[in-house]
Amino acid sequence: MRTLDRAGAAARVTERAFVSLGPMAASPAILHADLDAFYASVEQLLDPSLRGKPIAVGGGVVLAASYEAKRHGVSSGMPAGRARERCPGLEFVGGHFAEYRRLGDQVMAILGDFTDLVQRISIDEAFMDVGGSRRLFGEPAQIARTIRARVREEVGLPISIGAAGTRHLAKIASQVAKPDGLVVVEVGREREFLDPLPVSLVWGVGPATEARLASAGITTIGQLSDTSPSVLAKLVGGGLGSRLRLLANDEDPRVVRSGGRGRSVGAQSALGRVAPTAELRAEVLGHLADRVAGRLRKADRAGRTVTVRVRFPGMRSVTRSLTVEEPVASTLTLREVSEQLVAQALTDNGGEWEVTLLGISVSNLIEQASVQLELPVADDDPHRTGSPTGAARLALDRSVDAVRERFGTGSVAYATPAFSERGAVPDEFRELAERDS
Ligand SMILES: [Mg+2]
Repeated sequence: MRTLDRAGAAARVTERAFVSLGPMAASPAILHADLDAFYASVEQLLDPSLRGKPIAVGGGVVLAASYEAKRHGVSSGMPAGRARERCPGLEFVGGHFAEYRRLGDQVMAILGDFTDLVQRISIDEAFMDVGGSRRLFGEPAQIARTIRARVREEVGLPISIGAAGTRHLAKIASQVAKPDGLVVVEVGREREFLDPLPVSLVWGVGPATEARLASAGITTIGQLSDTSPSVLAKLVGGGLGSRLRLLANDEDPRVVRSGGRGRSVGAQSALGRVAPTAELRAEVLGHLADRVAGRLRKADRAGRTVTVRVRFPGMRSVTRSLTVEEPVASTLTLREVSEQLVAQALTDNGGEWEVTLLGISVSNLIEQASVQLELPVADDDPHRTGSPTGAARLALDRSVDAVRERFGTGSVAYATPAFSERGAVPDEFRELAERDS
């Protein structure tokens, strides 16, 4: 099963926690997520023959280098001649900029699934504040792991993440985590983490500043934080000096500002290449709706916008959304809406006879601990939770949830064709890739 293999591969990626989090530790909630050697990694994703090879994106100048090239001392901004001297086998490739944009957006959409506090600062990096996401998605370190696995699985690119209590420190942590790693700086141990690191990791320290600091024997962040303001002012100027000193002391009051994207809960299934028959759609979407709606109910939430995603062979994917009047948390309703949307997406893309992935997400979330029953009016719309049928559906869902809570997820299932055949094995592995509650 492909889902299994990919989840397994994702779980094996390098992970270095600076200090492990005890169960009671307050874990830092700011994440900095940064794709590794982004342009070069995209080129290697698009053209498998480039994988594992030293490549540079650009022409006269290196815009980005793959890790294989970096190991030979090739870096961004280097003239092509010098890069070739350092790395004789270096291959230059032209940039696929539309693809960078598309894949960068796709990664940002994944980050947005965990919090609406996502602040994108370039095509391939963003800050997130996941302090408010614990209830839905777990501790920040767990969220970071899930994001890394999802970006690897759904987009195919390596991403490094730093978790810390401030933006500046989270960014340093993600740089230390590279390539393809996760570094968590536990609250209270910031100094220990920062002190031995080179000053070049501090925001605002370029090669010229680095050289000036080195001339006074200041090479580590610890030394920088110990340097008196007057000495720093003489070395790099008063303004920059005081900014660097604050950062070296981990004083960064800037907060993460979102671009305003809504929070959502989603799940998806990678399917290999399969024909999207009505039976397959009912089966897969039934399963996904069950997972998504179950997570919503567990968190006492419901959402008004249902989005489905259909991926076709060749990585092209389309989405269809519907915003309904009443927030949805019922498995059956979510399944019906999703089936309609996927059918529409397939019709709109006539001639696509194979799909590789189906996904459902629900956004526009609200708190919905209990349902206000409507008076029995003429219109019994099952999609409205307060209607008689809608309420019955939710009551059924709650019973299913209760049985599962007590006897395990596999103990009871909604009837969908061939559910038991496919449902039995891959769930644990999907859990790995998607990470529930
Ligand atoms: Mg990057």
